[in-house]
Amino acid sequence: MIASVLPTYSRAPLSFVKGEGSWLIEADGRRFLDLGAGIAVNALGHANPSLVEALTTQANALWHTSNLYQIPQQTALADRLVEHTFADTVFFTNSGTEACELAVKMARKYFYDKGQPERVEIITFSGSFHGRSSAGIAAAGSEKMTKGFGPLLPGFVHLEFGDHDALTAAISDKTCAVMVEPVQGEGGIRPLPDACLKGLRDLCDQHGILMILDEVQCGVGRTGKLFAHEWSGVTPDIMMVAKGIGGGFPLGAVLATENAASGMTAGTHGSTYGGNPLGCAVGCAVMDIVTDPAFLSDVNRKAGLLRQKLEGLVAAHPDVFEAVRGSGLMLGLKCKAAPGDVVNAGYATEVITVPAADNVVRLLPPLTITDEEIAEAVSRLDRAAFTLGAT
Ligand SMILES: *Cc1c(COP(=O)(O)O)cnc(C)c1O
Repeated sequence: MIASVLPTYSRAPLSFVKGEGSWLIEADGRRFLDLGAGIAVNALGHANPSLVEALTTQANALWHTSNLYQIPQQTALADRLVEHTFADTVFFTNSGTEACELAVKMARKYFYDKGQPERVEIITFSGSFHGRSSAGIAAAGSEKMTKGFGPLLPGFVHLEFGDHDALTAAISDKTCAVMVEPVQGEGGIRPLPDACLKGLRDLCDQHGILMILDEVQCGVGRTGKLFAHEWSGVTPDIMMVAKGIGGGFPLGAVLATENAASGMTAGTHGSTYGGNPLGCAVGCAVMDIVTDPAFLSDVNRKAGLLRQKLEGLVAAHPDVFEAVRGSGLMLGLKCKAAPGDVVNAGYATEVITVPAADNVVRLLPPLTITDEEIAEAVSRLDRAAFTLGAT
């Protein structure tokens, strides 16, 4: 008999009743150090007092009105995002994949309005992940996500990650945009080198096409900058954001330049819940914290500490781990053992990590993790590795 919850997930036998900062607690009191943060969602830790305060204050005042009316919390969050990024304008969604839907629509509408309706193709890359909606799975294009769900949304061209020559060759008079994650998350913590992002920007400028960055996982302070593309010095035309921006409350956004957004006039897009007062109140509280330069510089310092300790872990367990990679507090352990076994061994020593493709285990701790917790986390991973390795 089918489970009452549609069985689309294979879940770990863990169930948490409480979260405190970097910790998740089971009903029997077992405390897990959380290096997953709900897959980069709980960017400011569990039950962060500022976020709890923002949410409960708003909950006591007003939950929902509809986008038929003015929503001041939405304007406040959009203003903060515009102030701190390349963007001139923001649309709010509830998730990353909804941000993907709008990014695709926006890019196509841009060229339609410019009298080039044939420019509909979006170039994407192997190993990418853009969510589970019809546009999201068509964009990423991996058989694992698309098989059986045809006919897929047409208009996506899939290339090998990092192959600049193939990219140059693939651009045609049908191309409207390139969509890429500055650091691939699900694909196994694969950062796109800064030189590639710069090359991509140049190519887009030469051909007059739009650059869409998917910062759903790597954005909101995760890499030590507010957004990951800032490391390269180039800016996109359109950017997808979600996960960390709500700190655990469902919230996403599409950020765009005035030019890229020019086709999106009244009536061209909408959402019932997108940009509701609850989500935007929390989003403002998140932005107030992550835009503080002192906060980001501490993320960078802690990232260095974690990375250094992980290098030691890899060196101590060469039969289990191969290398550390990633950016900021978005790190991956490339494994020789099966990543699923490493994650399970971590559960036994009460540390939570997240598997990814390319034989990688992801470490995406809350950005608020302390130095002591970093040391404790690596010591728990070390104990986990001992149960797996031959040494
Ligand atoms: C998680 C993720 C998405 C999808 O976000 P949802 O909120 O699950 O729809 C899209 N892109 C990237 C890079 C992601 O990590």
